[in-house]
Amino acid sequence: MPETVLKVRLLCCTPQPARAVALGGRLCYSDTDIEQLYGDMAPKSEAFVDKLLAMGHLSPIEHASFTFGIQGVSRALLAQITRHRIASFSVQSQRYVAKDRLDYVLPPSIRALGPEAVAEFEADMDAAYAAYDKWRQRGIPAEDARFALPNGAETRMLVTMNARELLHFFQLRCCNRAQWEIRRLAWCMLGMALREAPAIFAHGGPNCLRRGCTEGKMCCGKGEEIQALAQELAAFVGEGPSDAAICSWVLARL
Ligand SMILES: Cc1cc2nc3c(=O)[nH]c(=O)nc-3n(C[C@H](O)[C@H](O)[C@H](O)COP(=O)(O)OP(=O)(O)OC[C@H]3O[C@@H](n4cnc5c(N)ncnc54)[C@H](O)[C@@H]3O)c2cc1C
Repeated sequence: MPETVLKVRLLCCTPQPARAVALGGRLCYSDTDIEQLYGDMAPKSEAFVDKLLAMGHLSPIEHASFTFGIQGVSRALLAQITRHRIASFSVQSQRYVAKDRLDYVLPPSIRALGPEAVAEFEADMDAAYAAYDKWRQRGIPAEDARFALPNGAETRMLVTMNARELLHFFQLRCCNRAQWEIRRLAWCMLGMALREAPAIFAHGGPNCLRRGCTEGKMCCGKGEEIQALAQELAAFVGEGPSDAAICSWVLARL
């Protein structure tokens, strides 16, 4: 049975996201006609976005939105990402998509134990799929047979978040305290968002990058490492890499 690999694509986003955000912020303080204001903002959008973020005027950032296609992630990740309520999700259904094989995510901690442990994990996945298939063969619908499937079962989804929610998501999920799978995903999404809207997402990432660690006793103590990772990512996405290249870059480091 095949192990899956994380695949993230930024499928679409608000055109000129910084300009939309800057316009939203600027018109709060201006009596100028909207169309003219939109034109006026073109050369100064990025500086204005910076100002908004610095003063904590965050609602205009909601005018930029980003839609990601995500696959090769586990149902365990699904349970975590869907806790983010200011996001929209479409998730592959285990009721309507009956599986003729089980694709799954292999945790790196098990891979690190070596080939024997990996084979043992594969056998566990085989056994889970065999249980699912047994019930299917007995006429049980996929919506019930799926109860035998593991948390490691692969899923895919479309996720849309506005930039304010994304910044919040990155604070929580790029942090070393976040679980490895959603942390990898969050860094991939940060890379893609940063490539498209550097003025907004230069402010993105875990809290330690700007405010200092907020985890108290649970602090990972790796602030400098994270700082270096964020700087390297910013330099890398400045070259305009593809989504696939950003995923590979992140997976090679996390
Ligand atoms: C390291 C880590 C460990 C975790 N462990 C657990 C765990 O053991 N058990 C568990 O159940 N969860 C756990 N979570 C999930 C966590 O409790 C949150 O559900 C998840 O991170 C979503 O965060 P959020 O509510 O801030 O974000 P979102 O839902 O994305 O909301 C964004 C922001 O909008 C505002 N908001 C949204 N909805 C409301 C509302 N109804 N009322 C008021 N304000 C609102 C809040 O300011 C919120 O921060 C964990 C998360 C992390 C990062």
